[in-house]
Parts: sequence; C-alpha cells; structure tokens
Amino acid sequence: MNSTLVTFPSGRISGRSELVGVVPVGDRHGLVVAETPFHPLDHTWPDQPADRGTVGGTPVIDCVTGAQSATGETFLGADIPVRRGDEGWRWLVVHVTGEAPPPLGTEVELEVDAAHRAALSAGHTACHLAALALNAALAGRWRKEATLDRLGHPDFDQAAITSSRIVEGGSVDVYRLGKSLRKKGFSAEGLDTGAVAGEVNDRLKTWVAADAPVRIDAPGPELTARRTWRCELPEGEAAIPCGGTHVARTGELGRVQVSLTLDEATLTMHTTCG
Ligand SMILES: [Zn+2]
Repeated sequence: MNSTLVTFPSGRISGRSELVGVVPVGDRHGLVVAETPFHPLDHTWPDQPADRGTVGGTPVIDCVTGAQSATGETFLGADIPVRRGDEGWRWLVVHVTGEAPPPLGTEVELEVDAAHRAALSAGHTACHLAALALNAALAGRWRKEATLDRLGHPDFDQAAITSSRIVEGGSVDVYRLGKSLRKKGFSAEGLDTGAVAGEVNDRLKTWVAADAPVRIDAPGPELTARRTWRCELPEGEAAIPCGGTHVARTGELGRVQVSLTLDEATLTMHTTCG
C-alpha cells in the first residue's frame, strides 16, 4: 500500500481505481484506493471539509487523512502522531463507509458530490483572495518590517491567523491581535472594521472583474505533495501554499464580500461569494 495519488488538485471529481486497503474506523470501514478524486480533511490544517460522494456506489460518510507507519499501524486524522508528509510514513486518503467493502483488488468507481465540491472550491478561492485583500487594507498598520505576501504587502494573514474554515460559498477566518502580533510591529489601535471591510470589498470586486486565472501547482501526485495556489491578479501573481480545491477563474465567484468583527483581541473575517 503506497501513498494515495490524488486528482482533486486539478479539479477532478470522478475516477476509477483499485481497492488497495481497508482500515477499521470504529465499526465502519476506511477504504483506500490507489488514486482518488476525493479531498480528505487535512489533519495539520483542517481548513477545507472532506468531499462527499460514493465509492463503488456506497455513500462516503467521511473522508479523512490516514498515516501508516513502517510497522503497518494506521492512524487517522487528529490521532496522527507525525507531521503531514513525514517521509517514513505512507499517506492515505481514507474513504469511510458503513457497508462491508468488496475484496481487495476490486476496481471501484469514485464519484464526488459535484455541487458540494464546487461550493467548497468557490469558498476556498474567495478565502485566499480575501486574505490577500485584507493584507493590503492593513498594510499601513505595520511599524516594523514584516514578511511580505506575494503582492508585496505585509502578510497579516500569515502572521495572525489562528484558524480558517472553508464553508460552502465562503469561509470564516479568525485572527489573533495579541501581544505577539504587536511585538512583530502591528498596531490594531482604533481599528475601524467597517472601513477596512469596505476597502477589502472594493479590491475583491476588481479581482473578480479581472476574471483572473487560478491554478494549483503540484510537484507530484501524492496526497502530501506541497501544492501551491496561484492566481494571476492584475497586480501580479499571488501564491499561497494550499492543499485544497479551487475554481479556475476569479470571475466564477460572482460577488465576493467580507464582514469583519472585532471582539477584544480576536478579529473574525466572514467571507461569502456567489
Ligand atoms: Zn488554501
């Protein structure tokens, strides 16, 4: 059983592959195939939810990341004791089903729920664009030299993010404006969330209107290959490390809008599109 090869980075939602392993998931079955279009939840940075769909006609209840040690022990999701992509381990997409699986070696059809995937892809692209637009809107608040994003703005998103959740047609990103960010040189004093959101939304509007192409660069077909999201915006090519799925052009997103709420030292950005 080698690491699972994945086709979701290029946007695939169906495939046919050999059943190469079954791992127990409680009283359910975790099916592993040689190659899959299914996007599993990442255990290290669980931003994009698992795909839904069917394997061999059986509903996939959940789709998680599995890691198998050299001794053959398999861990799932949050129980994985090593970093994503650790070389001594095999990295698996585990399709969880409630019915007894066919024998190993059987060829099975894999079908991802297209509408659910499309809504998550739109939400994920909108999430990255909103992060870049937020970096631009907050650029004037940095008092020290900071790491820059690929568009040349201090990377507030990378410096302050604590969690990112992709939902259908949007995302929820939570940022911590605490002491450590202040030490890095960011001032949150007198932050007007309405004004910042307005600036972010104006920029998002021009990026959607530009219908910029979006693609995922993958150095290899393995689940844990270090993939990069790239978008050719009018200001230049943006790039963000990313394990998820995306639309092909920003024009597909329709209207992208954010709202910002500040609660003590926590800034939350809700992004919607469509
Ligand atoms: Zn991403």
